[in-house]
Amino acid sequence: MQIHEEEQLTIHLQQFIRCSTISNEDVEQFDWPEFTKLHGLFKEFYPTLYKEFSVTDVGRAGLLFHYASGHKEKTPLVLSAHQDVVEPGVLSLWHQEPFSGAYADGCVWGRGTTDCKHLFLAEMEAVETLFAQGFRPDYDLYIALGYSEEIYMTSGEDGGRLLKEAFDAQGVKEIVLFDEGGSITTDAQGHRVARVGLGDKSQIVYELYKEGTGGHSSVPGLHTDMGALARSIVALEDHPRPYKLTDLARGQLQGLAKLETGERQRIFADPDRHWDEVCALAAEDPQLDALLHTTLCVTMAQGARQVNVIPARVSAMISARVLPGETGDEILAYIQQYLTGGIQVRRVSGIDPVHEDTPHSEEFACVAKTIQDVYGTDVMVMPSLMLFATDSRYYADIAKHIFLFSGYEQDQRWGPMHGVNEKIPADALPGGRAFFMQLLQNY
Ligand SMILES: [Zn+2]
Repeated sequence: MQIHEEEQLTIHLQQFIRCSTISNEDVEQFDWPEFTKLHGLFKEFYPTLYKEFSVTDVGRAGLLFHYASGHKEKTPLVLSAHQDVVEPGVLSLWHQEPFSGAYADGCVWGRGTTDCKHLFLAEMEAVETLFAQGFRPDYDLYIALGYSEEIYMTSGEDGGRLLKEAFDAQGVKEIVLFDEGGSITTDAQGHRVARVGLGDKSQIVYELYKEGTGGHSSVPGLHTDMGALARSIVALEDHPRPYKLTDLARGQLQGLAKLETGERQRIFADPDRHWDEVCALAAEDPQLDALLHTTLCVTMAQGARQVNVIPARVSAMISARVLPGETGDEILAYIQQYLTGGIQVRRVSGIDPVHEDTPHSEEFACVAKTIQDVYGTDVMVMPSLMLFATDSRYYADIAKHIFLFSGYEQDQRWGPMHGVNEKIPADALPGGRAFFMQLLQNY
């Protein structure tokens, strides 16, 4: 049975990977027929889903499946994922062609195997299997699949936003949402930990810039706009946003305390009491640092295109990762106070993060129970802040809870998201499907 399941899931995922659904900031650069090809596979693999659910096309390639239960007591459950993937990167570094869906060394290889075609595979297979067996939930169930999660669309057709608008159009006022996020991993001491995201940081992009007249580099004067830009960047780096302990960060540190030993265990177990020590550790540890404040990372800078020209415009881009509870406008004002020499700042893109959720809810308890039902009671369930943003932020005003969790158990055989040689072991696939099957029954 197990072998048969694994084979079937493997074959389906391989075919999903063969659709090169790469997203692009320019809507005209998408290869839309590849999404159509993927939708053809959904119809072929999931006949019960297509029979029992209404299917709405959303935007250029979004899909919203809805099962209307006729019951209104429970909050509708939404399983979401994105269909798009990032560019494969340097082809010569891949051991298997990135859109071949090759099966080698016990793994399915290719772009999207872990971010996140494995997720909609698990969600759709779970629904198909249960419904084919006659299961019908006493709550409304949705599957929401976006197509532009990996990019910031410039033309306003963002799949995540349009999906949210489709919920609004149906008059849906409240949902519980699952989206990509944490998984179960094993640390060096052999502890198995399930990280369930109860909040994520939102990327907001800012531009620092100054427009002048430019000129010849032989008569620069004592200061240049490029110098002012550099001074502004240095001032920002010298004044990071202060650390703070949100409820979720506190919960996560206390969870980590159970996995740590020695000093770190003592400090994390009661982070309020040992706050100075937490801050000292964070200054040396980028992961911990990211958990405790909004980060500002300057990633791109531009001046003249020729060495003997004083640029008429200098600019630098900041990728800010904003902590739940803070806003993009607040960060804009913060940046402003450190700019010198006429440098200005503007907000380019990004929306404010969703407020973080509490682990003290009935629904979180249900998620934790589901994880232990499927993977065993030795798995420790840890509420976590996700450092990467997902499409879930669009649902802020209707989401009672957002759980960022993939349902999978991950190990060192997995290939990196967005990296070369992205791959997933075939024997991990039944676990993902089992998680969502159990969830639909426990919810
Ligand atoms: Zn993703």
